[in-house]
Amino acid sequence: MAYLTQPDYVKYICSCGQLKPITSLYFCRHCLKIRCGFCICHEVDSHYCANCLENMPSSEARLKKNRCSSCFDCPSCFHTLSTRATMAQPRQVLQDPAAAGDTKVESKQPKKMYYLSCFNCRWTSRDVGIPDQPVASGGWPERTNPHAARVNQLLDYYKAIAMQEKQEKIERERKKFNIRGKYITLTDKTGLTGAMARNIAGLPSSESSSSAIASFVPSQASAEVEELPEDIFTKEVNLNQITSMPQRLASPEWQPVSVARLHPLAKLLSVKRSQRCRACDHNLTKPEYNPGSIKFKIELLA
Ligand SMILES: [Zn+2]
Ligand SMILES: [Zn+2]
Ligand SMILES: [Zn+2]
Ligand SMILES: [Zn+2]
Repeated sequence: MAYLTQPDYVKYICSCGQLKPITSLYFCRHCLKIRCGFCICHEVDSHYCANCLENMPSSEARLKKNRCSSCFDCPSCFHTLSTRATMAQPRQVLQDPAAAGDTKVESKQPKKMYYLSCFNCRWTSRDVGIPDQPVASGGWPERTNPHAARVNQLLDYYKAIAMQEKQEKIERERKKFNIRGKYITLTDKTGLTGAMARNIAGLPSSESSSSAIASFVPSQASAEVEELPEDIFTKEVNLNQITSMPQRLASPEWQPVSVARLHPLAKLLSVKRSQRCRACDHNLTKPEYNPGSIKFKIELLA
């Protein structure tokens, strides 16, 4: 492998016509051709967290929105956050003579508590008032997306539309075949109705999808926007208190304006991908499944 800083003095011509350094070329031994990243298929093999190396299937990754549930990035400098432990001295409750017997004396044993801290910029989860947690991993309070309901509504709507289009396509194909008279439909052959077949295939019935489309309320564009605060041009700006653009956009759901609203960012998952020759469909590279391994099962480099 070339060093990242090494300039590419010598370039080779790929079979697709692109000029590439030897380090980014592959050799398909089935077509006997040189291939490059531009003329091969990239496929996602597995999702994993680059910090804790947890592996997960793509369905689970999609459910977790492609983020690791136990690792976090610093919202201020995007470095990985570390979990730090402290000993918390529980508050001692003094025996109140008036209510003797009622007040319980808490155990005086110091309790281990955890918080997140950035070793790079010294940001901690305590800075924004996130309470320390009694367990080291997980359990960090999650903020709900203020637009979650609308986003789900849109997702349902698009799913319903996709469903409907698929249905129409099937219907069209069936009509085409019926006209030709060559093929018998599934219904004629097995006695299954369309709804039953959908049920068996685990697809939602067309009634529920059409109701999702019917009840959908499209967004309305509005010319009315909130007025800017009066002191916007006169108030002195404290740059230590407001977030930078990258910090804001790192959490697109909330886009915090003040640093007091920053929240740990769940770490994005990485993927291992395999690469395939477009002409013959053979694998050019295939990584090992284990995320800790940097080896390949198949590695056809030029
Ligand atoms: Zn190429
Ligand atoms: Zn992780
Ligand atoms: Zn940081
Ligand atoms: Zn090939």
